[in-house]
Parts: sequence; C-alpha cells; structure tokens
Amino acid sequence: MIKVVKFGGSSLASAEQFKKVSAIINADESRRYVVPSAPGKRFSADTKVTDMLYECYSVAAKGKDYKPLLDNIKKRYYDIIEELGLDLSLEKEFDTIETSFVGRAGRDYAASRGEYLNGIVLANYLGFTFIDAAEVIFFDDNGNFDMEKTDPVLKQRLANIDNAVIPGFYGSMPNDTIKTFSRGGSDITGSIVARAIDADLYENWTDVSGFLIADPRIIKDSKVITTITYKELRELSYMGASVLHEDAIFPVRAKGIPINIKNTNIPEDPGTLIVESTSIKPEFTITGIAGTRGFAAVTIEKEMMNSELGFGRKVLEEFEKYGVSFEHMPSGIDTMSVLVNQADFAKKEQEILAGIHRNAHPDSIDIETDIALIAVVGRGMKATRGTAGRIFSALAHARVNVKMIDQGSSELNVIVGVNEIDFEKAVKAIYDIFVTTKL
Ligand code: ASP
Repeated sequence: MIKVVKFGGSSLASAEQFKKVSAIINADESRRYVVPSAPGKRFSADTKVTDMLYECYSVAAKGKDYKPLLDNIKKRYYDIIEELGLDLSLEKEFDTIETSFVGRAGRDYAASRGEYLNGIVLANYLGFTFIDAAEVIFFDDNGNFDMEKTDPVLKQRLANIDNAVIPGFYGSMPNDTIKTFSRGGSDITGSIVARAIDADLYENWTDVSGFLIADPRIIKDSKVITTITYKELRELSYMGASVLHEDAIFPVRAKGIPINIKNTNIPEDPGTLIVESTSIKPEFTITGIAGTRGFAAVTIEKEMMNSELGFGRKVLEEFEKYGVSFEHMPSGIDTMSVLVNQADFAKKEQEILAGIHRNAHPDSIDIETDIALIAVVGRGMKATRGTAGRIFSALAHARVNVKMIDQGSSELNVIVGVNEIDFEKAVKAIYDIFVTTKL
C-alpha cells in the first residue's frame, strides 16, 4: 500500500502545524511520499508566504528596497526551524534567492521558493529525502504540464526511495527556468506524484473535513459529503465549490486512484473520498448544492423559430464573435434564452444585440439581469423519482420564483435560475428538503 500525502499551506503554516503533519505521517507507514505547499496563513489576517514572495520579488525587480520584505519571509521559516529544534540553515538558499530576485529570475521562480524551502524544512524534520520538483516535474515549450516527460522520470526517481518530500506547485521548463501551476497548484503536484508511482490513495490534507454539501456561509454546520464521484465534483466545482484545484483530478483519474480530502486539525474525521464510481449508496438523494451569482439571461423570441433551420447557430455565433461563452441555453417553441456571465456580457452587450438583430432577425430580445444559478448535483437523483418535483415544491414553499430550469441528460444535475436576492433562500430550501428532513 502506498499513499501520497499532500499538505496545504494552512497545514504547514507554523511549527505547531508541522508537528501535526509529522504525527499524521508517522501514524501510517504507507504515507511515503509527501507534497507540501508553502506556509500559509496562521490566522485569518496573516499573509501566505507565496504572496509575500510575489510582493518581495516585484519590489526587488523594480530595483527598490526589498530587504525588509525578504527578512519577513526568512522569519517565517526561521521561526518554524527554531521551534522544531532543527539543525538546519537556509542561509545558502536565501543567498541564492536574493541574487536571483535582483537578477530578475521571474515571478514563477520567486513564488516557487515558498514550496521549495518548505520542502527542505519538512524533509529535514521527517528524515525523508528531499527531491527538488524542478528535477522531476516538467512543462513543455507552451507552458503546459508535460505528463509524458514527467511520468517516467518521476517513477524512476522514486523507485528506490522509500520516503521522499517533493515540493508542490512548480516544475521546470525545457530551458530550465522555473514555472508554477496556477494558484493552489500543489494539489496538482500531489496528483502527478500519485499517478507516477501508482499510489493506492492520494490524501489531500487541508483545514476542512472534506467537501460540504452546501456553502457554509449559507448553511451553518452543513454536513460533509462522504463520497463523491469525479463527475459530480466537476459539476460542483464548475459552479463555485472549491477545495481542490480543478486540474488535480485528471492525473489520478486516468488510473482510478481515489483522492481523500482530510483535515490536518481533525485527522480522525473521515473526510471526503473522491472516486471514479462507487456502489456505495449516497446518504442523501443529492450529493451537493453549489451556486453562483452574476448571470444574465438574453431571451430571443421569434415566431416560428422552431422550424427555422440554423436559428440557434446564428444567435450563438454573435456571442462567440465577441468572446462571450454561454453557460446554459434553455429553449421553448418560439423562444430561446442564452445564459451568460453578466460582467462579460455587459462589455459587449450592444454589439451582440445588434449582431443578433442583423443575423437572425428576431421579433424581440429581452434581457434579464442579476440571476443566480444553483446546481443540485447527485448520482442518487438518477435512481430516485420526483427529485425535480421536490426541488420545485421546496422552492415554491420558500416563495422563490424559479426563472429557469435545466436538467443535464446525465441526470446528474438540475440547474435552477433564481433572482439573486432569492439565492440564499433557495439554497436553504433545497438543503432542508434533501438533507435536514432527508426526503
Ligand atoms: N502556495 C501556492 C499558493 O498559495 C500553491 C499552493 O498552495 O498549492 O497558491
């Protein structure tokens, strides 16, 4: 049994957190490969080391006085080293970093040092081998992650190493410069490592006990999702739920390696297990609810639209021309509505409307703004009759007016559009009917 364990920034923000991490790793010898983030926030007003590095680098690159900023970064690491009682100096590393900052080694290089240094500290503390991600994680000339090059190198490198720490978030370009993934990218590194060594499980340790069924800002004490499929997760994260970097799924998915989201501060909590598919019946009919505000609906009406070949294409072409992608497109006999991101649409609104008039000759175009979309997701909905009915009766009881309905043909999700002012009320109503009263 091999587990790859990734620890997020808040799990490694202080010496106290390092101790929890070490206890977790030592409690299970299959936890052999560790991927750390940079030290994150110790308290809510704190600054992540990654952000400190970006800032310090931009000051240094402008030729201004970056030293106080660099000292603050050093202090974050030195505090940890001292409190853990480690016999470790990072002076040489910091000298190299300073020279590289002044020599404008790039923002990605700067940000990557957070994980690099934290990896050195963690490896020293655990007594594990440190492997610089620049030697085993590769990007291609276009800056895209290069799985074909990475996979065999990583596999070979780890083959004879029982325990290693590989810092998250970065790798190297073909010209040997450092490149990072997008923010939160250590999740991706963990997934790449798990794939390369054919791990049995990828544990992603963070500061929450898994994915919640609904946004805790709306539902206090929302229950945790115990098991979720990759597909369900995709639907939910698309609508705004975020705990795991979206790109962290594909490397392990292809090999059927499950991901377990766990809480460093409450390790005994089971967390959320993300799997390809499962025979485990979901606890509730729905797996999760997610939603976002800020949509506009452009409704186009034309008599006999139904029989006009190519009408939809002509309309959508105009959105495409101006770079506005559509989210949903419910339609009636003589109407079609195109749901778009309101802020994106507003920038090109008049051009798009004029284009539709010119191209498709509609009878009328109507715009409705400030719409929130709510996705109700769940593999359990397929097997249960009347799910949509229950959603709508719950919303009717809560006096929420439903503006739009869209059910994916996979029967994995139902999307409802409501007025933004009804957003929270609607989420509560749906949560209550499926989870609180378990209907
Ligand atoms: N440290 C990086 C960030 O703050 C990457 C990560 O934590 O995954 O985005």
